[in-house]
Amino acid sequence: MIIQLKNNIEPAQKEAIIKKVNSFKYEANEVKTQKGTYLIGIGSKEFDIRQIGNLAGIADIHIVSDSYKLVSRKWKVKQSVVDLGDGITIGEGSLAIMAGPCSIEGEEQIVETIAHLKANGIKIMRGGVFKPRSSPYAFRGMGIEGLQLWYKHAKEAGMKIVTEVMQVSQIEPMLDYVDVFQVGARNTQNFNLLDALGQVDKAVMIKRGISGTIDELLYSAEYVFSGGNEKLILCERGIRTYETASRNTLDLNAIPILKEKTHLPVVSDPSHGIGIRRHVEPLALASVMAGADGVIYETHSNPYKAFSDGQQTLDFRESEQLIRKLRATYDLLCSF
Ligand code: PEP
Ligand code: MN
Repeated sequence: MIIQLKNNIEPAQKEAIIKKVNSFKYEANEVKTQKGTYLIGIGSKEFDIRQIGNLAGIADIHIVSDSYKLVSRKWKVKQSVVDLGDGITIGEGSLAIMAGPCSIEGEEQIVETIAHLKANGIKIMRGGVFKPRSSPYAFRGMGIEGLQLWYKHAKEAGMKIVTEVMQVSQIEPMLDYVDVFQVGARNTQNFNLLDALGQVDKAVMIKRGISGTIDELLYSAEYVFSGGNEKLILCERGIRTYETASRNTLDLNAIPILKEKTHLPVVSDPSHGIGIRRHVEPLALASVMAGADGVIYETHSNPYKAFSDGQQTLDFRESEQLIRKLRATYDLLCSF
């Protein structure tokens, strides 16, 4: 059960609501986000919500049978849209295209990538400055200095930044330079990190865990939302299966299933999803057809020289072609 409280609710009214909720053997968890205040009722006994609904201070009340609540589609008529400012949004009604290198490598690469994206009308750039690598000897990112350098150029170009945060202590130093905090597949169930991102007034994109179920991804999002942050995006990025012909298996099933289960925007990452450059395009287009609200992929002026994930990275010519086809596919879908 989700009880949306009125913004001007008085403490005594709130207390009376909690008391009533408790009288049905429901626990009432208060959640305060950037957008509103909610009481999340957890219990199992069925009762008529009209017995609560008319109490003073309640804006709306909904029965949500899913065990995740705030991210469930069941209580929201409209899909959520994440607003990054300057007219840039992710969610229903548009196709968000986010692109950039796997890793931020230096000023020249930042400048040429921004120029490529800008020339193609892309306003959200991805890139890692803290890189989770399977081997500790691989390139692990430029860190905060890399992020600051990137920010300087991105700001000038009106480009938004999506970048991975790997641990709680990085949030504070990154905060001023990031538009979307990416939670990587290896951290989807890092509940301390999710709790901390719940306190932040910046968008968060949570990637699906490498062996994570769709429901586990939704629970991870529930952590951030119930921590106070509604600006959430979910990302299907491929899961580990018994298949060895590709790096991961992009689970296209997850896109329509997530869109049905949650009101949050859902995007697809075909680069990590398949891990093979020449197959990124068809999977990106299929993701749009499956209902994704956006696509995030890796591009680099010279993928063969990329510090990480070159094998799945598009060069700028391939990227330009993909952008064109993504837009045409989205238009086609809208025309049906
Ligand atoms: C990345 O986006 O470069 C990345 C490391 O992604 P994932 O967490 O999905 O592996
Ligand atoms: Mn990568």
